[in-house]
Amino acid sequence: MGHAKRWYCHIATLLLVFGLIMLIPPTASAYERPVLRVGYTNTINYLSRDEYGFYHGMTYEALENIATYMGVTLEYVPGTPAENLLRLHSGAIDLVTCEEVSQNLLPPTELTAPPAGTASIPLGYGIGWLLLSDQRPDLKANIQASQQSLNSIIPLFGLHLLEKYQEQGGAALELTAKEKAYLKAHPVIRAMASPGQPPYTFFTEDGTHQGVIADIMNIIASDLGITIEISPETDQSSMMAHLTRGEIDLVTDFYSDYNWARQHNADLTIPYLTLNYVAVLRKDQSLPEKPIIACPRSHFYTHDYMEKMYPASQLQYYDTVAECMSAVNNRQADMTLVKAITAQSDIHQGNYYNLYITGNIVFSHDVAIAVSNQADPMLIHILNKEIAHLSQQQISSIINRQIYAVQSKDTLQSLIYRNPIGSLVLISSLLLGIILTLLLVMQLRRKHSEELYREAHYLKEVNMYNTRWFTQNLPSTIAKYEEQQKQGKLFLMVMSAQRIAFMHELYSRQVFNKALQELVARVRRNNPWLLMDAISGDFFKLIVLCRLPEGFTMEQAAQKIANEAGTCVINDMLTTVRYHIGLYAIPASGQLVPERLIDCVMLAHMESVASHETTTYNESLHDELLKQKQLENLMDKALQNGEFQVYLQPKYDLQTYEVLGAEALVRWQSPELGFLAPAAFMDLFEHNGFAIPLDYYMLETICRYQQERIAKGATVLPISVNQSGLHFTEENYLKRMQAIADTYQLPQGCLELEITETAFIDYQSHDTRDDAETIINRLSQLGFILSMDDFCTGYSSIAMLQNLPMDVMKIDRQMLLTAEKSPRARTILHHIVKLGQSLHMKVLTEGIETKQQEELLLSLGCRLGQGFLFAEPMPLEEFDDFLARHTQKS
Ligand code: C2E
Ligand code: MG
Ligand code: MG
Repeated sequence: MGHAKRWYCHIATLLLVFGLIMLIPPTASAYERPVLRVGYTNTINYLSRDEYGFYHGMTYEALENIATYMGVTLEYVPGTPAENLLRLHSGAIDLVTCEEVSQNLLPPTELTAPPAGTASIPLGYGIGWLLLSDQRPDLKANIQASQQSLNSIIPLFGLHLLEKYQEQGGAALELTAKEKAYLKAHPVIRAMASPGQPPYTFFTEDGTHQGVIADIMNIIASDLGITIEISPETDQSSMMAHLTRGEIDLVTDFYSDYNWARQHNADLTIPYLTLNYVAVLRKDQSLPEKPIIACPRSHFYTHDYMEKMYPASQLQYYDTVAECMSAVNNRQADMTLVKAITAQSDIHQGNYYNLYITGNIVFSHDVAIAVSNQADPMLIHILNKEIAHLSQQQISSIINRQIYAVQSKDTLQSLIYRNPIGSLVLISSLLLGIILTLLLVMQLRRKHSEELYREAHYLKEVNMYNTRWFTQNLPSTIAKYEEQQKQGKLFLMVMSAQRIAFMHELYSRQVFNKALQELVARVRRNNPWLLMDAISGDFFKLIVLCRLPEGFTMEQAAQKIANEAGTCVINDMLTTVRYHIGLYAIPASGQLVPERLIDCVMLAHMESVASHETTTYNESLHDELLKQKQLENLMDKALQNGEFQVYLQPKYDLQTYEVLGAEALVRWQSPELGFLAPAAFMDLFEHNGFAIPLDYYMLETICRYQQERIAKGATVLPISVNQSGLHFTEENYLKRMQAIADTYQLPQGCLELEITETAFIDYQSHDTRDDAETIINRLSQLGFILSMDDFCTGYSSIAMLQNLPMDVMKIDRQMLLTAEKSPRARTILHHIVKLGQSLHMKVLTEGIETKQQEELLLSLGCRLGQGFLFAEPMPLEEFDDFLARHTQKS
C-alpha cells in the first residue's frame, strides 16, 4: 500500500515539473533569423519612420516583401546618403536605399552610375534602388532570386505600391497648349446625368444637379476652368440619342463597359469611380436556395453580372431599381442588387422597412464619362488627364459627405428605422411624458372637484361640514353601525343655543365662530358616542348622529351634552348657554330616507324652540310642527294683508278704577289658521326674526290710532307696545325709531315701549353696538315712555335698575301668583314695589284676575294694574267705546 502510494507521488511530481517546463516560453533563439541592416535616409512615400517607430513607404513595403522571401529580418539604420555609403563600405550595414527613380516600366538592371564599390538592384517602376557592396555577389543573387519568385506570383506588386502611395496626391494636371486652346474654345460643356438616385446622382426641385457625380463634375469643371451644364435624363438610351445627335457633349455617369459604350456610339474615359453593389433582402425570410432575383432591365449590370451569375429561371425583370425593391418587399422576388451608396436612401425613400442590406459587396463596376464617338478626341484626352489627376481620397470624402447629407434629411419614419432602440426609448419617454401629464391633469381635476365638493359641503369659518354633507353621508355611516341600528340605539340630535340668532348678532363673527368650534371640539372629545356632526348654514343648529351610550336614555344622553356645553368661553368670559334640543330615534328597521330622518329631528328641534324643552320626535308632534312650518309660510303674506290685528288691554288705577292707559297686544286673524294668540306664533317669530317687522307694524298702527284721537280732540292715554329683544341687535333701530317719531310727531307721553328685562342680559357684553344705556336714553329722548316688562321672571338684577333709567316697572303675573301663596314672596314683592317707587318708577302688576289679587297688590303698595278682572284685551275699534264708558263711569 505504502509503495504504491510513493509511485503515484513520483509520477505526479514528474508531470508537474514537465508541465512547468512546457510553460516556460521558448528562447528567442528558436526563431532567430539572419539580420540584414538597411541604411536609409528618411524620405516620405519611400521609407520613413514615424513618431511611434513604425515605418512607411513604397521602398519599405517592397523591402519587407523581399525579406520574407529571403527569410531574413531587416534592421533599419537612419543616416544621410554619405553616412550610409561610409557604413556600407565599413560593413556596418548591408544595404542602402536609393530613391533615384526609374521612369521606365522595365527598369535597367543596373543603375547608370552606382557609387564606387557598390552594385545596384532595381526595386520596381517608380520605386527606387538598393545599393550593396560589389563584394557581395551572393547577397545580390539572393535578393534577385527572391524578387523573381515574387514577380512570378504577383507581377503587379510594384504597380500596386505605386498606385497606393502616388495616388494620394493625384497625378499633376499637365495640359498641352493645344488642349488649353481647345478648352478656351469650348468654355461650356453640355452633359446629362441620371436623376433620382440620392446621394449618387439626383436633381433638386429647381433643377440643380446634386450628389456624388455632381460634386466630381464640379471638381473637373473647376480644374479645367470650364462650365459643365448638366441636365437630367432618366433613360440611358435616350441620353445616348442626345449624345449621338450632338445635342450634348458627354454623359457623366456611364457604366464603364466598352460593349455597352459601343452599343451607344460612345467613347469612354478612364473610370473615375468604382460603384459597389450590395444585396437587398427581406428581413422576415432567409434567402432560399434558389432565390428569385429582381433585375432592372435597362441597367447594364443586369447583363454584365446577374445574367451570368443566375440561371434565367431565377431572374425577374423590372423597369427601375425602385420596382425591383418593391418586388422584394412584396415577396415577388427574394433579392435585388443596389448601389451601396444609394442603398440606405432607396430603402428609406420607398419605406421598405421589411428590407435590409447585407454589408457584403456582391459585385462592383466602374463608372466613366461617355463622350460621343463623333466628338473631337481632344476632349476625351483632356478628361483622361483630369481623371488621372483626381485623388481617390477626394472622391471617398465626397461619397461620405453625400451619404451623410442624405441621412440628415431623414424622415421621422426612416429615423425610427435607422435608430430602433433610440426611437423606442424616445417614444416610450414621450408616452411616459403624456401619461404623466394626463395623470397630473387628472390629479388637478380631482383636486379641483374635491375643492368644489368641499366648498359645497364645508363651512370653512368653523371647520365643520354642513347639513348637505350630513344628509349625503348619513346612510353610509348608519350602515357602518348596522348592529346598533338594529338594536334601536342610533339617534339623531339637533341642538341650538337659546337666543342663538341674538348671540350671533351680538358677537363678532370671529368670536362667535371660535367659541362654537371650541365648544364642538370639547363635546366631541368627551363623547365618543357622537358619531358624526354637521352645522346648518347659519351656524345656529348642530346636527349629530349618536350611538346611545350604555345606561342612558336618549334624553339623558342629550342632557349630558347640554350640560357639558352649558358654559362656554366667549371673549374670555364664561357665558351660560341653554339649548333647544330635538331628538329622533332612528327606526331599527325599514327603509331609511336620510332627508326624512333629518326632517323629523328638525321638527323635534323646532318644537323644542317653542316649548323650551328637549323634545323627542313623535307622530303627533309631526302634525304640530307642520303647523309651525305653515305659520312661517304664511307670515309674510299675513303682514301684507293686515291679518295681524291690534288688541288693547287697559291699565288702570287699582284704587279708583280709572283707565290710565293700555297695552297693545297682537292677534292673528288668519283665513287659513283661524284666530291666533301670540303664544301660537310669537316664540317662532322671535326665533326667525319676524318679530321685528311685526313690532314696527304694531307701533305704527298705534301711532296712527293716537294721531286720529288727537285729531278728533279725544283724550289721549299712553299706549304701550311690546318690543322684541331682537331690536337691540338691529343695526338701525334708533334711526327707525327716530323716523317714526318724526313722522307722527306725537306729543310726549303718548307711546310707551315694553321691553322684557331678559332682552338686556346678553346685551350687556355687547361691545360693537350702542350699549343698552345709550339706547334707553335715546328712546327716552325721542319721547317714548319706557317700561320693563315681565319684571321678576328672568335674570333681573339690581344693577340693571341702577343703570337703565326706565319709567315703568311691570311686575309679571307669575310673581303675583307666587306672592298669593307665599308670605316670603309677598315680602319680596312688597320690597320690589318699594324699590321701583323709590327709583321714581311707576309700578304696575299684570295678570290680575281676582279681587283678592287686587287687594293683595294694594296692600303691598302697588297702585297700578292690568288684568282680565278689569278688562280683557279688546280690538282697537272697541277701545274707543270702552274708554267712553269708563271715563263716564269715573
Ligand atoms: P306680555 O307683554 O307680558 O303681555 C301680557 C300678556 O298677559 C298678554 O298675553 C295678556 O293677554 C295676558 N294677560 C293679561 N291679563 C291677564 C290675566 O288676567 N290673566 C292671564 N292669564 N293673562 C293675562 P298675550 O296677549 O297672549 O301676549 C303674550 C305675550 O306675547 C306678551 O306678554 C308679549 O310678550 C307678547 N306680545 C304680544 N303682542 C306682542 C307684540 O306686538 N310684539 C311683541 N314683541 N310681543 C308681543
Ligand atoms: Mg307686555
Ligand atoms: Mg308681561
